[in-house]
Amino acid sequence: MKKSNRHVPAHEIDAIAGAVRAGDRRALGRAITLVESRRDADRPRAEALLEALVAYRGDAIRIGISGVPGVGKSTFIERFGRHVIENGHRVAVLAVDPSSSVSGGSILGDKTRMEELGRNAKAFIRPSPTGGTLGGVARRTREAIALCEAAGYDVVIVETVGVGQSETAVKDMTDMFMLLLSPTGGDELQGMKRGIVELADLILVNKADGALEAAALDTVSNYRNAVHLLRPASPNWAVPVDACSALAGTGIAEVWRHVEAYRKALGDSGEIAARRKAQTKSRLWSEVGESLLANLRAHRDVKQLLPALEKDVVEGRIAVAQAARRLLAAFLGSSAS
Ligand code: GDP
Repeated sequence: MKKSNRHVPAHEIDAIAGAVRAGDRRALGRAITLVESRRDADRPRAEALLEALVAYRGDAIRIGISGVPGVGKSTFIERFGRHVIENGHRVAVLAVDPSSSVSGGSILGDKTRMEELGRNAKAFIRPSPTGGTLGGVARRTREAIALCEAAGYDVVIVETVGVGQSETAVKDMTDMFMLLLSPTGGDELQGMKRGIVELADLILVNKADGALEAAALDTVSNYRNAVHLLRPASPNWAVPVDACSALAGTGIAEVWRHVEAYRKALGDSGEIAARRKAQTKSRLWSEVGESLLANLRAHRDVKQLLPALEKDVVEGRIAVAQAARRLLAAFLGSSAS
């Protein structure tokens, strides 16, 4: 259950910011709850907190991980997270879960997931924010990334379920995007049609163990061929396709080596910095777009016009473009005056 953030009064912002910076996991949890709040009244304090921490972001690597339910994401993150911690890092795990917007469920909500990692003092695991649109959830996750980085987590993992548009949202907030696949054995290429493979900086065929191992290796070679045909997103990075077993722990150390190599190659070439700049710029526009839309929807004249206009559009009495123009005119007309 999420706590209410009514107990984060304005005069406590500095204290919370200090505790977050000191790496206090409880304070970080409260800080994230505050930025995730959908109450308008909480927003100024959330922004004050982000403002207080913006200067302390360190140089974390942000990793997106996606794959269909059951592919082994949480088993993988558990293993991988422990390996990364053994290598001297601190790991935060966040989630963007489009299904929680619909069902109210949450991919990380189940307490049994990543149990061991969660007990590690160098790990912070946060269930996905519940409710809201994908855009809204993504915004809160971006802010949660900033808070985790201020708290000294230098590896931030953002997990998402491989359904819908969430992969693009996660790609747009991370430096490196990993795609987890299941062994199929056949020639069928999952995720190819939906363009998800093109987003990946690293492709992992999980469950390469026991009876599934041979099929996993087949899948690896199919994807190596497929990836070879794609135009590389970076001249400095050839997307690796590897097998691993999150259950047995094989191939996990190689994944971390790939992350380090990626970071070196694209860090040196300036591509990670350029990607972050482009992400920030598009974030500015989505912030503007979202608040414009929220203002428009809340506008008195728009609200008054809307039911009849929607009905007219649906029943074909007026064209969509004309209805949209009328709504905009109602909004701009009085906001301009
Ligand atoms: P998620 O839905 O993607 O988070 O997948 P989970 O991590 O919950 O794993 C789904 C199922 O696959 C569980 O029963 C896991 O034990 C199993 N699983 C995960 N990784 C492996 C693996 O490397 N090998 C095998 N054989 N099973 C795995």
